[in-house]
Amino acid sequence: MKLEGIHHVTSITADAPRNVEFYAGTLGLRLVKKSVNQDDPTVYHLFYADELGRAGSDMTFFEYPGARRGRAGAGMIHRVTFRVASEEALDFWEKRLGADGVTVEREEGSLRFEDPEGLGLELAVVETDDEPLIADHPEIPKELALQGFDSVRAYAHNPDASRSLFEEALVFEPDGDASWEIRGEKRGSTYSYDTPLPEPGIQGAGTVHHVAWASQMDEHEAWRERALQAGAAPTPVIDRFYFKSVYFREPSGVLFEIATIGPGFATDEPLEHLGERLSLPPDYEHLREQLEPVLTPLPDPRAVCAR
Ligand code: ZN
Repeated sequence: MKLEGIHHVTSITADAPRNVEFYAGTLGLRLVKKSVNQDDPTVYHLFYADELGRAGSDMTFFEYPGARRGRAGAGMIHRVTFRVASEEALDFWEKRLGADGVTVEREEGSLRFEDPEGLGLELAVVETDDEPLIADHPEIPKELALQGFDSVRAYAHNPDASRSLFEEALVFEPDGDASWEIRGEKRGSTYSYDTPLPEPGIQGAGTVHHVAWASQMDEHEAWRERALQAGAAPTPVIDRFYFKSVYFREPSGVLFEIATIGPGFATDEPLEHLGERLSLPPDYEHLREQLEPVLTPLPDPRAVCAR
């Protein structure tokens, strides 16, 4: 039993329209689901991914309008890295992000920058046999596009505190001192810790809320059981409609989720129209007429693409 790398990464935005412009417009991901927070249906939960909405490419955001800027500290993820194919891709992104006023830091094989709210992002040239998970965007040639997640990096004072849960229960493979590979049959990712800054973290706009690891459908309960046996305190299985989830905090403080690979985003709307219409969980469907006028107006992501 192996986890199939990163399923999705969920972060916080205070500015949903700008978030759509950046992730769908500038970075060229597809807005595959426009839904609401299951705990507060007056605010969005936005999902960006490849063209098919596959696990391994899915960057999601909770909208907290007016939330103050956060800051990554101990027990928080501070960088999300996407794969690209080549140095030529980095040339393209250096230019494209620069043209949008984004400050970039280029090194061999890597381009670092922040999203409009300060979330740490990186594009890395990675040699892999994993299938590239690519979205269609009129301004971005396929061979230069983002190809899905490579890794996330978090801050921890004592990464060893997490080691037994990772290596014994979750079958993370050690890959250096404070780094692990999480690789299943089809896909893999890496997870690493860095030494935190002295200032404590603040959960807020521009920070990561949690990382989800991808589970095969029939192994999900078993992963929950393993986390429980290893001393974590997993939630019951929660039905997120597009996948099933359990959550627990790992010993260094980062919120983990284990999410099933299916049923996926085409479960409540056709693949060719993903994300165009507001998708409501079944319990909220009767509130559609009240909710639609209350939600922040968003730009059309595909019009943003063609701007
Ligand atoms: Zn999640």
